[in-house]
Amino acid sequence: MDAGTGRNERSIRRAVVTGGAGFLGSHLCTELRRREVEVVCLDNFLTGNAGNIEHLIGDPWFRLVQCDVTDYVHVPGDVDLVLHFASPASPIDYLKLPIQTLKVGSIGTLHALGLAKEKGARFVLASTSEVYGDPQVHPQPEDYWGHVNPVGPRGVYDEAKRFAEAMTVAYRGQHGVDTAIARIFNTFGPRMRPYDGRAIPTFIRQALAGEPLTVAGDGSQTRSVCYVSDLVRGILALAWDGHTGPMNIGNPHELSVLQIAQDVVAATGSDSPIEFIDRPVDDPMVRRPDTSLAGRVLDWSPEVSWAEGLERTVAWFRTAVDEDNLETAARHS
Ligand code: NAD
Repeated sequence: MDAGTGRNERSIRRAVVTGGAGFLGSHLCTELRRREVEVVCLDNFLTGNAGNIEHLIGDPWFRLVQCDVTDYVHVPGDVDLVLHFASPASPIDYLKLPIQTLKVGSIGTLHALGLAKEKGARFVLASTSEVYGDPQVHPQPEDYWGHVNPVGPRGVYDEAKRFAEAMTVAYRGQHGVDTAIARIFNTFGPRMRPYDGRAIPTFIRQALAGEPLTVAGDGSQTRSVCYVSDLVRGILALAWDGHTGPMNIGNPHELSVLQIAQDVVAATGSDSPIEFIDRPVDDPMVRRPDTSLAGRVLDWSPEVSWAEGLERTVAWFRTAVDEDNLETAARHS
């Protein structure tokens, strides 16, 4: 915590969430409204959709502005917090949208930082564990510089986020903007798109449809998965705090991809078999956050177990994923 900036003492009355109609952004908008913070959501629906925020439409303290943050960002009135979450995030999306991904990480971040500078607002960048690439240090602490292939297929996302981090630090140093960098590790939960290509929604969709679960490689590569409510609590704790980051936010509970698939089969009661397919290029072998900084500074740690989070996510997929939003999802896939 920065000297003089007591946790939870910061006054945040109005927040801008870029990418607010996406998976994480929509949960952040919902929680901010629950805390009685006015929210302006900026989104161009590139990978998000209006269904994610439809429960907030009609709320007089929630405003949706459909815009591309790489064009310009203009928000009239006071703003106390900018959460910059706009960016394709799943490998399927950023492999299909490489230039949009690079633009939103660079120009979009420049514009979001410009807004925070103009308004004197706190700024939180949604960075990623991908900045560590295929890591050679395990688990990954914030002072590990990473092992990234800039010209591999994932480079568009990884380097966009690394650039965004550098720009965030520059705005703090040169313009005195009150910035923070959150390095988010794999997060899952309701509102993930069934065709977004990430392992958990793919496995749940396949299991519920009675199709084989497609595990990349032999499934021994690991992921550490965080339930969305824990992630949101961590991001907002960082927003209310004065810490600059970079700070890992994620669940250190590490699972092999094969274990994730087996647990999804069990949680859905499916009799789907498991099928092994080729591993994507530059797919990281291991991933696990060192979250001691978040624990020490924010007194934050994940509370929702993998089993509980999986159960809630499966329940959501069973009830909320109807044919309509499968079609919407498929259009983005
Ligand atoms: P998402 O694709 O569901 O949400 C991203 C949102 O940004 C979408 O609503 C999309 O329409 C919007 N967007 C994209 N480009 C835009 C632009 N130019 N202008 C306006 N809006 C734009 O992804 P998500 O999983 O919610 O991820 C949100 C953020 O968190 C991303 O920045 C991502 O890099 C980061 N992150 C997510 C995870 C995760 O596990 N979900 C992990 C690490 C980092």
